[in-house]
Amino acid sequence: MTKLKNLDIILAHGPELSAGGLDYYQLGLWAASLPRTRVLAVNPGLPREELLRRLKAFLYLGEEHRVLLAALDPLRRARLLIQLLLQEIGIHPEFLLTLDLQEALCYPDAKACSLKAHHLIGVAASMLTRAEPVGVQELPVSPRVLVWGDSYAALKAAVSLAHLGHPVLWAYPGPTPAPLLPGAPVTEPPEPPVASLLTAADASPLISKVPKARFLELEGQVGHFLVKLEISGEIRQELVGGMILAPELHLTPNPKPLADHFRIFSLSELERRLKEQEKIEGLFPPRDGLLQAAFIGGDSHPLSLKRTLKAISRLQTQDPWQVALFLRDAKVGAPGLEAALEAALAQGLILFKVSEPPKISLTDDLPQVSFFDPVMLSREVLACDLVVLDEVYRPDPDNHRLAHLLGLFSGPAGFLQKDNVRLLPVVTNRQGIYVAGPGRAVMDLDQALAEADTAVSMCHELLGQGLAFAPKGRAVVDRGRCTLCLTCYRLCPHRAISWDNRAVIHELACQGCGTCAAHCPNEAIQIRNFTDDQVVAAMATLDPRLTPKIFAFLCQNSAWEAYQAAIKEEGLILPLGFIPLRLPCAGKLDIDYLLRGFTYGAQGILVMGCPLDNCRSDQGNCHALWRVERAQGLLAEVGIDPRRLLYRPVAANAPRDFQDAVMSLLEILSQGQAA
Ligand code: SF4
Ligand code: SF4
Repeated sequence: MTKLKNLDIILAHGPELSAGGLDYYQLGLWAASLPRTRVLAVNPGLPREELLRRLKAFLYLGEEHRVLLAALDPLRRARLLIQLLLQEIGIHPEFLLTLDLQEALCYPDAKACSLKAHHLIGVAASMLTRAEPVGVQELPVSPRVLVWGDSYAALKAAVSLAHLGHPVLWAYPGPTPAPLLPGAPVTEPPEPPVASLLTAADASPLISKVPKARFLELEGQVGHFLVKLEISGEIRQELVGGMILAPELHLTPNPKPLADHFRIFSLSELERRLKEQEKIEGLFPPRDGLLQAAFIGGDSHPLSLKRTLKAISRLQTQDPWQVALFLRDAKVGAPGLEAALEAALAQGLILFKVSEPPKISLTDDLPQVSFFDPVMLSREVLACDLVVLDEVYRPDPDNHRLAHLLGLFSGPAGFLQKDNVRLLPVVTNRQGIYVAGPGRAVMDLDQALAEADTAVSMCHELLGQGLAFAPKGRAVVDRGRCTLCLTCYRLCPHRAISWDNRAVIHELACQGCGTCAAHCPNEAIQIRNFTDDQVVAAMATLDPRLTPKIFAFLCQNSAWEAYQAAIKEEGLILPLGFIPLRLPCAGKLDIDYLLRGFTYGAQGILVMGCPLDNCRSDQGNCHALWRVERAQGLLAEVGIDPRRLLYRPVAANAPRDFQDAVMSLLEILSQGQAA
C-alpha cells in the first residue's frame, strides 16, 4: 500500500466557475477536508507578481509539493499559474496535475455541479497523493548508427547522420549501392543534389561502407545493439546505438514473362533499350509500315503507372509505333499523373480497362494479346510486335526475415512497419529502430528523403553524442516477487525486457504501456503513477450519491482524448456517476479492476481502447477486449448481467463514438432496471 503524501490543491477560479453554478467557496471547504490536503483559492487573472507572491506564501519553497490545479480550462485560463508553478516555484512536472472542471459545470442544478466537482477532485487527489516521481537519468549509449539498405533514403540517412557527427555503418546486400528512383526509368540518373549523395558518402570519414552484408542476429537494446553481420562469408559483430532501415524496393515483372522471347520483355528491359538506342523500331522488322506495342499492367501503384507512361511517351515520339495499354484501374494519384495520361491519350494511346489481365500467346513467333473488350463486349486478339510487361514495386523479400530477427511488427505487404497511425512516419515498435522510405512503403523520392531526415533527427535526438535521457523508475520490477516465469518478456510489445536471475526492464526501451504489469501472474511489475494501488484507491472514492455509477477505463492515447473532446467540443453531459480512469494503454487493464469495480458498487463498466491495428503497443486493445470477455464470463457465472461490462474501441478524434458508447451502456443499464 502506497504511503499517502501531502497534497496542495489550487482552485483557480474566476467568475466563470460561480457563473457556471459551482460554489467555489464550498468547494474549497470540502477540498480542505480531504486527508493531508491544503487549499488555495486564487483568481488566475491576477497580475503575475501577485500570483507569484500568493503561490510562494502557500507553497513553502524547498519542500516536495504535489499540486492539483483545478480550474475551468486550466491549460488556457490558468496558463500563467502553471508556468509560475513549474518555472518559479520548481514543482516537479510529474507532481503538477491539472484538472478541468468543465465536466462539473454541465448539470442544471448547483448541487449536482458541486457533487461532480467533489468527485473529480477526489479521484485526481487520490491518484496524486499516491504518485511517485519518475526521474530522468542519463545513460551512456553508442552514437554509432547502422543504416541498412542501399535506397536513396538509406544513402541520405547515412550522409545526414555523418554530418551530425554520428559514426555510421552503412550496410547493404549488393556489391555496390543500386538505388532506384521510384516512378522513373531504371536508367534515369538522379538530379542534383541527390546525385552527389554517393560522392558525399564515399568522402565521409565517418561512414564505413559494408557491401555484401547479411543481417544475422541482434542482441541487446537501444543504445547498445549488438549486430551480427555476415560479410562476404565472414561473421562480424558490431555495436551500434540505433538503426535506420531503408532496404531498397525490388522490381518484379507482373505478369511473369514468357520464356525468353525477343518481342516480350519487362519495362526495365525496354528502358535499357530505349536508353541504348535512339530508335527502338530497328529491333523489329516492321509489318505493314506500322508497329504495334502492348503494355500490360502499370496499375499496381501510381508510381508504376508514371513509369509506364514515361516509356509509352518515348515510344510514341518514334513513328510508326501504335501503343495500347491494358489496365484494370488507372491509378493516377500522383502529381502530374492524370495530365500525363491525358497527354498520352491525345498522342494516340489506346487504353483498355480490363477486368482480367490479358492473356499472351505466340502465333508464328508473334505475340498475341487476347482480352475481353468491355466496350465491344467481345473477346479480341491483338497481334503485337512488342509486349511490355509491367513491374511491381515490392518490398525487399528479405524483410520478413529481418523483421523477425529484429522483433519488429512487419506490415501486411512485407514492409518493416505495421500499418498503424501511431507509428507514422518512421517509428517502429522498438525504440531506437527507425524505418524510412522504401523500408515502409512504396513512395516517391521526395517523401523517402523527407522520411530519412525525420529518422535521422529522431535518432540524433535519442542518441545525442553518446548520452540518452531515459525515465528512471517508470516500470518497476519487484525482484522479491518475480519468479522468472518470463510472461512479461514474451508479451512486451517493445522488446524492453530481458533477465538476469529476475526480469529486467530496460528503461530507455520501455514505453510504459503496462502490458507486462497487467499480465504478470505475481503482480511483480508496477507502472509508476498507474499502479494498481492508485487505480483501486480511485475507484474507492465513489460517492454513493452519484448515479448511475459507471467506471470508465480509458486508454490515454485515444479514449481519454475522445472523452475530453466530447465534453469540450460536443458539450456532452455525462451521467453524474461517470468516473473516468486513465490508463497508459488499454493493455494495462487488469481483470481485477473489472471485478473490483462491481464489488465497489458500479452499475456499469466501460472499457475503451484504440481501434483495431492502431494500438501504439500493437495489441493493448486486444488484450483489454480479451480481459473484458473473460470478466463477462465470470460475471455471468455469478448472475451479473455481463452486458453491464462493455468494451468499445474509439479513435482520439471521435468524441461522438465516445458519446455513443456511453449511451449504449446507459441503455443497457436502463433495460436492466426495467427488467
Ligand atoms: S511476468 Fe512477473 S513473475 Fe514473470 S518474469 Fe515477469 S516480472 Fe517475473
Ligand atoms: S511497460 Fe510496456 S514497454 Fe515497458 S516493459 Fe512493460 S510491456 Fe514493455
